[in-house]
Amino acid sequence: MALLNRALTLIAPPFCWACGDVAPNDEPLCRSCRSGLRWLDGAPVELAGLETWAPVYYEGPARALVGALKFRGAVGLAAPMAAQIVAGAPAGFLRGGTALVPVPLLRARARRRGFNQAERLAAAIGRRAEARLADCLVRRGPASGRQVGRGRAERLTGIAGAVDLREGSRCPADVVLVDDVVTTGATLAACAAALRAAGARRVAALAYARTPGR
Ligand SMILES: [Zn+2]
Repeated sequence: MALLNRALTLIAPPFCWACGDVAPNDEPLCRSCRSGLRWLDGAPVELAGLETWAPVYYEGPARALVGALKFRGAVGLAAPMAAQIVAGAPAGFLRGGTALVPVPLLRARARRRGFNQAERLAAAIGRRAEARLADCLVRRGPASGRQVGRGRAERLTGIAGAVDLREGSRCPADVVLVDDVVTTGATLAACAAALRAAGARRVAALAYARTPGR
């Protein structure tokens, strides 16, 4: 197996997802891009009423990794990205009994893409941490008929469509929402509202990257 891996490496050396240069074995970034990652503070921030934490700023090489996972189907990147999340997650974020709930994609988008990158990240975090995956949210909409205005949930949250508990799902009590990127936190807030309405007692959020300045 090692020999086969070595042979494959010679044919197609591992390359950096950000710049295309050769990357060390099993690393998604070359040394220079990895050192260009801007690491965030170890402490969580409060975003839209949720304790939220991410390891890196959403810029440069981190943006390239997120884009490759989401738009180039590089689902193998979920594992190293999850490793960075788990390695730095604040104490108490991932504990026995915590359910990792992926932020849902709009159904049409999920169909087009064939997967939900947040679900891939949550599953990869679950394999490394003491937490289980609970893919219990769905996102509907956006409402058709723009001329009649947006639906109530959309007006309240500012996000397209509405988030609900998946039919037949039980809402976990202790939830960490998982997404690839967080920006304003509006989507997280909509997810948290749906979870709290269904009985969740604690909702926090983990992402791979966060927009600078928040
Ligand atoms: Zn690079």
